Amino acid sequence: MRRPFMAANWKMNKTVSEALDMATELKELVADVEDVDMALCSPATNLHPLKNLLKDTEISLGGQNLHYKESGAFTAELSTDMLKSVGCEYVVVGHSERREIFGEDDELINLKMKRAVAEGITPILCIGEKLEEREAGKHFARVKFQLAADLSGVEADDVKDIVLAYEPLWAIGTGETATPEQAEEIIKYIREELARMYDQDTAEKVRIQYGGSVKPWNVKEIMEQPNIDGALVGGASLEAGSFSKIIKFEEQ
Ligand code: PEP
Repeated sequence: MRRPFMAANWKMNKTVSEALDMATELKELVADVEDVDMALCSPATNLHPLKNLLKDTEISLGGQNLHYKESGAFTAELSTDMLKSVGCEYVVVGHSERREIFGEDDELINLKMKRAVAEGITPILCIGEKLEEREAGKHFARVKFQLAADLSGVEADDVKDIVLAYEPLWAIGTGETATPEQAEEIIKYIREELARMYDQDTAEKVRIQYGGSVKPWNVKEIMEQPNIDGALVGGASLEAGSFSKIIKFEEQ
């Protein structure tokens, strides 16, 4: 049985005081949550203060990026040791904004994946198609390609512990969501593809989130889909009220 996992992607939002205010509120609102994993993937500047604030809670922390080398002359980059030192259990890898705006390709994303799993930080690997790819019926081929490229050389033993986030680019920050059926169809396909690449047991263990304009009002239906194990949430994760409702999807 896969445990639901709700992760906030704050992107380039929140100063330290804003992050602490939100997390203080969230901590109270989700104090009674027992059966859902939760993480805040925050800008790096907030991670250390958040670590202190959240130390006795069930809320985990995640970075939004990492470098694949141990250390060295890589100005502005973050190593896995740095992320671990500020309490990160997770790191977002291959977000579409990194791919589209910062030119990250699948080769680089694959290096980051290998580094994260080797260093014991759980990657949340984002994959998904562009609007024109969906309209041309190429969305299955797109995610198949990304899985093969991004997970190349990652062993089944490590893959079973990673998190995948299916995020169609046309649904990110647009207010447009994939219907629960559209999301389930492709996430089911992703799981089948994992079974072909690895084995059925591994595929059954991998948690696959949906991301793209998840809100308190649509989360329950999304989570009712058998292959969807959680959500990666941008806009609606910035406020404790809305993110806590997403975490408590069963009560919506
Ligand atoms: C995201 O950034 O990963 C995301 C899904 O954003 P939003 O929820 O705002 O669409």
